[in-house]
Amino acid sequence: MELTALIGEIAGPDVELLIDAHGRFDVPTAIRLGQALDELGGVHWYEEPVPPESYHALQQVRERVRTPISVGERLHTRWDFVPVFENRLADFAMPDVTWTGGISELKKISTMAEAYYVPMSPHDAAGPVNLVAGGHVMITVPNFYRIESSSHDLRAYNQFLTTPLDNSDGRLTLPSGPGLGLDFDLDHMRAHAQDGFHG
Ligand SMILES: [Mg+2]
Repeated sequence: MELTALIGEIAGPDVELLIDAHGRFDVPTAIRLGQALDELGGVHWYEEPVPPESYHALQQVRERVRTPISVGERLHTRWDFVPVFENRLADFAMPDVTWTGGISELKKISTMAEAYYVPMSPHDAAGPVNLVAGGHVMITVPNFYRIESSSHDLRAYNQFLTTPLDNSDGRLTLPSGPGLGLDFDLDHMRAHAQDGFHG
């Protein structure tokens, strides 16, 4: 908690503090941490406090913790989100466009979330296709909140692309070309391909 408080202090009031438990805790541990976050105050969300398989476990945490909860990066298809919305288990939904079933499925989950007035914040932290595909869906829905990338520094993604992505000021500009708008640097990719890869 000291570290979280220090980060909050350094980041200042204009930066949202998002704590990701990555589904690692059992119920009593998740509640203990969540209540410590409650006491600290000012934490914008508490992500995946328990592993994704048990909605009952999540419900128990939900009942005992006041800090807003975000879940969904490891929920698959719209059906996995039904219990989340129906039982008010989360304040934010964060499906991953690739893991949850693709562009159409992310759109459908977003529309379901809209009907429950739940904001969307896709977990799209696995490369440029993942990030940009999620972004294209998000500009079509009214309940977009944030999109996640693994780092603010997108150089690791840009090395694969002919035109670098622009996320200056924390805002991702979606490329406007055909399809997702991404154009890959195939020479770079061939030069760094694993042995046996023929592209
Ligand atoms: Mg996460």
